[in-house]
Amino acid sequence: MNQITPQPTVATLYLSAPVMAQLINDIGVHACLSGIADNIRADFSRWNEFDKSARVANHSKDGVIELMPISDNSLYSFKYVNGHPKNTRIGLSTVMAFGVLADVDTGVPLLLSELTLTTALRTAATSALAAKTLARPNSRVMALIGNGAQSEFQAVAFQHIVGIEEIRLFDVDPAATEKLVRNLKDSGLKLSVYQSTAEAVKGADIITTVTADKTNATIITPEMIEPGMHINGVGGDCPGKTELHTEVLSMSRVFVEYAPQSRVEGDIQHMPADFAVTELWEVLVGNLPGRQSANEVTVFDSVGFALEDYSALRFMRGVALELGMGEMIALIPEMADPKNLFGVLRSAPNALRRVA
Ligand code: NAD
Repeated sequence: MNQITPQPTVATLYLSAPVMAQLINDIGVHACLSGIADNIRADFSRWNEFDKSARVANHSKDGVIELMPISDNSLYSFKYVNGHPKNTRIGLSTVMAFGVLADVDTGVPLLLSELTLTTALRTAATSALAAKTLARPNSRVMALIGNGAQSEFQAVAFQHIVGIEEIRLFDVDPAATEKLVRNLKDSGLKLSVYQSTAEAVKGADIITTVTADKTNATIITPEMIEPGMHINGVGGDCPGKTELHTEVLSMSRVFVEYAPQSRVEGDIQHMPADFAVTELWEVLVGNLPGRQSANEVTVFDSVGFALEDYSALRFMRGVALELGMGEMIALIPEMADPKNLFGVLRSAPNALRRVA
């Protein structure tokens, strides 16, 4: 006899982009950044519990579409994300993303979420966490090269997590810089606009590069580097898409998220396969040293790793459930008898049937 156990719910929480924007406004950008940074620190600290892999990238002439999966023994997540630097010319974002958090025991998708806003938050939170660990503790001035979609998130994260007070700005597109200055005019940050990268980085404690161009650019060259600088390289995140001159890497200690992925996608793609790098989690848990002297130059060669999205999705789901935000959707069919999938068609409402 076919015993049917009571049906567990398969409803999925859906967080659209407008709902996410409201959620972020409700709890505040700072609270989101620190909540996500705390989750990233906690999840990176149990690194060996995760089933990790480099993301799967499908490249095309002008861009890339990537899938980023990861799991531990309770939750699985993936992100779909693109990178198309030319998109802004036709009114689309360079980076657009969505993702899922699922229950490992059953495979039920618990959360379907926008991840465009959330990626900007988690990238900035990761960068700030790395800088808090690697930059000189008295760092107050940051150059921010590339003032597009990610840039304000980076600025605010460095202000609140690292203690940055002044940001020196440069973008090849002056309108992007004007937009940043407008957006952050009440942030309490001192914002100074420069006419070149060389001028903007002079005397900075930290340099963040967050440009988008599908080319091996050399935004930061060796003569720009001063003793003790920390470089947060965010925009070099794909084969053939980098920002740092190789000599900048040679003269620095380089930290990465997940070395097998970073060696393919990061600025270190130009370095020999045995070029020494340290994974950030090793520093966070105290296994390996971070900065070893005030004069050392450190580089965080960020590419974005699936675990950061896992941490961010976990945070966003928790907040949404607490605030009662989002919508429960039927992404998976509800069935009294899970073997009777065909029966779902027979009981579908007339309005959903395409046959007249
Ligand atoms: P965006 O297109 O909105 O902004 C990029 C900005 O860079 C533009 O304003 C552009 O004018 C400027 N720029 C291009 N070349 C420049 C140069 N040579 N000098 C100065 N400015 C220059 O893109 P975005 O969403 O802000 O993303 C920025 C970069 O960050 C992209 O390359 C993206 O792939 C990368 N990214 C990385 C991560 C990560 O985890 N590491 C996450 C998200 C995005």
